[in-house]
Amino acid sequence: MSAPGGNFIHDIIDADLASGKHTEVITRFPPEPNGYLHIGHAKAICLDFGTALKYGGRCHLRFDDTNPTAEDTEYVEAIKEDVRWLGFDWGDHLYWASDYFDRMYECAVELIQRGKAYVCELSQDEFKEYRGIPTEPGKEPPCRNRSVEENLVLFEKMKNGEFKDGACVLRAKIDMSSPNLHLRDPAIYRIKHAPHHNTGDKWCIYPMYDFAHCLEDSFEGVTHSLCTLEFEVHRPLYDWILETLDLYQPRQYEFARLNLSYTIMSKRKLLELVKEKRVSDWDDPRMPTLCGMRRRGYPPEAIRAFCAEIGVTKTESLTDVALLEHHVRNHLNETAPRRMAVLDPLKVIITDYPEDGCEIFDLPNHPQKPETGTRPVPFSREIYIERADFMEDAPGKYKRLTLGREVRLRGAYLVTCNEAVKDADGSIIELHCTHDPESRGGNAPDGRKVRSTIHWVSAKYGNEAEIRLYDRLFTSENPAAEDGDFKEYLNPDSLKIVTGVIEPGLAEADAGDRFQFERIGYFCADSETPVDKPVFNLTVGLRDSWKG
Ligand code: ATP
Ligand code: MG
Repeated sequence: MSAPGGNFIHDIIDADLASGKHTEVITRFPPEPNGYLHIGHAKAICLDFGTALKYGGRCHLRFDDTNPTAEDTEYVEAIKEDVRWLGFDWGDHLYWASDYFDRMYECAVELIQRGKAYVCELSQDEFKEYRGIPTEPGKEPPCRNRSVEENLVLFEKMKNGEFKDGACVLRAKIDMSSPNLHLRDPAIYRIKHAPHHNTGDKWCIYPMYDFAHCLEDSFEGVTHSLCTLEFEVHRPLYDWILETLDLYQPRQYEFARLNLSYTIMSKRKLLELVKEKRVSDWDDPRMPTLCGMRRRGYPPEAIRAFCAEIGVTKTESLTDVALLEHHVRNHLNETAPRRMAVLDPLKVIITDYPEDGCEIFDLPNHPQKPETGTRPVPFSREIYIERADFMEDAPGKYKRLTLGREVRLRGAYLVTCNEAVKDADGSIIELHCTHDPESRGGNAPDGRKVRSTIHWVSAKYGNEAEIRLYDRLFTSENPAAEDGDFKEYLNPDSLKIVTGVIEPGLAEADAGDRFQFERIGYFCADSETPVDKPVFNLTVGLRDSWKG
């Protein structure tokens, strides 16, 4: 059993340190810069960097940039920003797979010289025929027994650009009858006449992932190479390459990837949503990307707490998104200052309050944390309350405002509603109330009971704001597992925009500032420059639906 906060990987590391197999722990996080990081990557980041931190070792940030056509430097900068935002630091240990292209080429030549690799002209489809199916041995391709000399010449020609894309590949010569298809002479180098963001036109052949990854780990002296379960079947190849080349052998350990309900976690599918404008961009607050969650107002501490709670296992599962929201709410409940905002404004006129009257009430920033102080909130004759906080024909159990009923305006006064003014269609356009001047600060002077407290914003001093209310991006619990196109399960109501009013100080909020709008939920000032009014994103509602 693992110690609390530990996992099966830490058990392995404990044993490796105890036996003296290793004296330090070196891990790596190896994103391919072909998209933005998502919450699944956060799990890997917390494990890779968190493990290094726990053991006083180090974690390398390594860009796996072996495919020049899918990758983009835009993603590189975003990935760095996201890892830092999550709270991790690679120090001087930033690496690029492409920095090793020379050494990887030499390794490939070495494999040829050892009679362990050959150039193969079969097309992908033709090779599939030779490779066969797992339950029956494959057939040896005709080019398999070329001489070392011939292979060296052909590989050099591949490198020199004498062949077109796809004309041939370099294959590891392993075992065409292995039950593991990855060992049936996998391609390790392919021709791609495409410039690379780092190496420019220097190369027209690029190493395949399986060849590159183990070499990168080995060159960097990684001790424990942690990856997701789908790479388990690649591990024998990882070991074969390093063993055959007599190179230092890191050990690869696999863990279950994070799958989260009501969302998808594939970069390819997320890119599809961006390209087809189903979302505004990678950082749309509905996206499961780290930049989307940041813009939505998710604190990095909450994401780390979530990752710690889900732990690291070898069993695939679907994690309830409500657990992530629970951690977000937990953190914000402790840290987010309280403010008042009205999302569906109904005007209230305090008819016995002076026309030009104004009072400033000092309201606590956090009722449970007096040390966080107070903020000034102006009150005036005309205010806004939530439309839902008034009901004309209220049932007995309705506690909020109705005709003849007294309620407390948070931190201001006790008011009684006398009249609901309607337009020609019978819709209520404003309420007329009177206040008890003795109840300044919202306290009943005689201790009389007031059944409810509602929030409000001064009509005169408050500001309009665009409030973006988000719901789940998908209607299906597991859109990736549904039949047909995952996009059919997009939630048409995942974004609702309303114009609300906010207490005056909120208009000066900096992008990324998080607040609790009292009685509504947690909100975050949007990071896009506001056009003509402040914009707030709903981070998460107040109610916790997590059932543990
Ligand atoms: P995607 O499937 O979204 O395209 P990927 O695995 O191709 O992701 P990489 O950039 O190669 O993306 O991933 C970098 C690291 O993050 C890898 O070690 C990978 O195993 C890990 N990772 C990716 N997705 C998840 C996930 N959902 N849960 C945990 N780890 C993940
Ligand atoms: Mg990958």
